[in-house]
Amino acid sequence: MSVRLQPELRNQLIQFGIGDWNACYHCGTCTAICPLSEKGFLFPRNKIRLMQMGVKDELETSVEPWLCYYCGDCTKSCPRDANPGELMMSLRRYLTSKYDWTGLSRKFYTSGVWELGFILVFAALVVIAFLFLLPAYGFKFTTELTAQGGVQVNAFAPWEYIEIFDWSMAAVVALLLISNILRMYYKIIWKDGKTTVSIWTHIREFWLLIYNFVVQPRFSKCEDKNYWLSHWFLMSGYTIMFIVIVVYLEWFQTDEILPFWHPQRTLGYYATFGLLFGLFVAIIGRIRKKRIKFQFSHVSDWLFLIMLTLTVITGILIHIFRINGMAWATYISYIAHMAILVPMILIEVPFSKWSHLAYRPFAVYFQQLKKHAVPRKSNQ
Ligand code: SF4
Ligand code: SF4
Repeated sequence: MSVRLQPELRNQLIQFGIGDWNACYHCGTCTAICPLSEKGFLFPRNKIRLMQMGVKDELETSVEPWLCYYCGDCTKSCPRDANPGELMMSLRRYLTSKYDWTGLSRKFYTSGVWELGFILVFAALVVIAFLFLLPAYGFKFTTELTAQGGVQVNAFAPWEYIEIFDWSMAAVVALLLISNILRMYYKIIWKDGKTTVSIWTHIREFWLLIYNFVVQPRFSKCEDKNYWLSHWFLMSGYTIMFIVIVVYLEWFQTDEILPFWHPQRTLGYYATFGLLFGLFVAIIGRIRKKRIKFQFSHVSDWLFLIMLTLTVITGILIHIFRINGMAWATYISYIAHMAILVPMILIEVPFSKWSHLAYRPFAVYFQQLKKHAVPRKSNQ
């Protein structure tokens, strides 16, 4: 089979943050030292070779970039300062854009104008909805407080309407993400046409997907164990918040001020703590640049951290203002919260940084399927 080389691939990859990749002279130290590289799934050296040669098809069907958790051990030991860890990170951005069929991922990763424009448009739509659409249906700002002295959030942002919107947004995001995952599956498992995997293997190995999503055990194989913990808190806080807001909004967005130890509040406090802890480690790390994994930041890394931080801060403000009866401050915080949250979810989950939350566990699952793949029967 002939391999098609595409020299223009280099220029495309540079747009996704790849720096001096030609520094690599293939000593193989990075692959030898990588705690996650294994027989049959070796990286990062061979991926750098494919990038240098422009072997596009093989790169796009690789599962290995997602098996790297960016511990930075390879970068530390590279004698040529080729930064293999960051090369793998840039490759993941490129692959994200290849799984996405809409072309938006590529636009967001390679153009700050596109990403900022998208954020501003959706933020403006959210503000318009709160200022004009909901009042048109009779929902208004009110300074009249509840019997407990709290703000009537549901008087201006009724949970029933917000939930319908949440469900619609979740459905759009889920459809986009699922379609991207199917494309990832096709590229990694089916495209080469040489092997096949039985249905039973798909079912039997499915637990790996759930296990890797919840526990993220591959992180713990890296030398620096601390980051696993902060990343896990961030991920669990985000997931809990997403579930309570999208699935249990009636229970979560009440006008009643519940006791401090009520599950509604403790769950919210835990999720907030998890998010703040993870964000603190990531932001301070990127400012100080002491850890290898934080030394190089793409625009999309900062944009994601800033948007998530603002979402958490406005969420905290809503809570503080609401239980203290500060009506206008609550309403303004609520609108600001939604104006940041909505574009963040719409960009980050299907098209950008946050999609790795799905791609990583799926990659471990697909890796396992590949291990059990058998040659396809030939008709000839
Ligand atoms: S990236 Fe560095 S360590 Fe890895 S093969 Fe190239 S030169 Fe060697
Ligand atoms: S960053 Fe860590 S996991 Fe990724 S290739 Fe390098 S050593 Fe392996």
